[in-house]
Amino acid sequence: MTHIITSLCVRDRGCIDVCPVECMVPGQPINEWPWIYIDPDTCIDCGACVPECPFAAIFPEDEVPSAYTAKGGEYISNVGLTGHFEGTNHHGGPIVLDTTRQLEAGEVVDFTPDIQPNYDFFKTGPGYSAKDVDDGR
Ligand code: SF4
Ligand code: SF4
Repeated sequence: MTHIITSLCVRDRGCIDVCPVECMVPGQPINEWPWIYIDPDTCIDCGACVPECPFAAIFPEDEVPSAYTAKGGEYISNVGLTGHFEGTNHHGGPIVLDTTRQLEAGEVVDFTPDIQPNYDFFKTGPGYSAKDVDDGR
C-alpha cells in the first residue's frame, strides 16, 4: 500500500521534509500536476507525513475519504479548476495556484478519484524528473 495526497493539497511542502525515504515529489508543471505526489513503490507507509500537513490532505490509500464533509472555506486544488490561491509555504516561499476552488460548509466531496493521479504521476507523468525543474513553489 501507499499513502495518497488528495486535492486538499495546496503545496505547503511541510510533508516533504519528514519523509524518511524521500518519495514525495512536487508536481510540475503545476497546472497539470498541482499536488505533491507520493511514489507508491517507495513509500513505506510510515505515516510520518500525515500530521505534518496543515491541510489534512494525506491519507493511507485505503482511508481516502469517499464522502468528505467540508468544514467550509478549505481549498481544493485540481486540474481543470480555475480559482486563484496565494499563500506562504512551510519554508516561507510563495504558493500561487490557479487550479483551486473553495468548498462550501457541508459540501460532500469524493476524494477517491485522487488516488489514480498519484500512480499516473510516476508511471506516465514526469515522476522524479519534476524535481529537476522544481521552483520551490
Ligand atoms: S503538507 Fe499537505 S498541503 Fe503541504 S504539500 Fe504536503 S500534502 Fe500538500
Ligand atoms: S507515509 Fe512515510 S514513506 Fe510514505 S510518503 Fe509519508 S512519510 Fe514518506
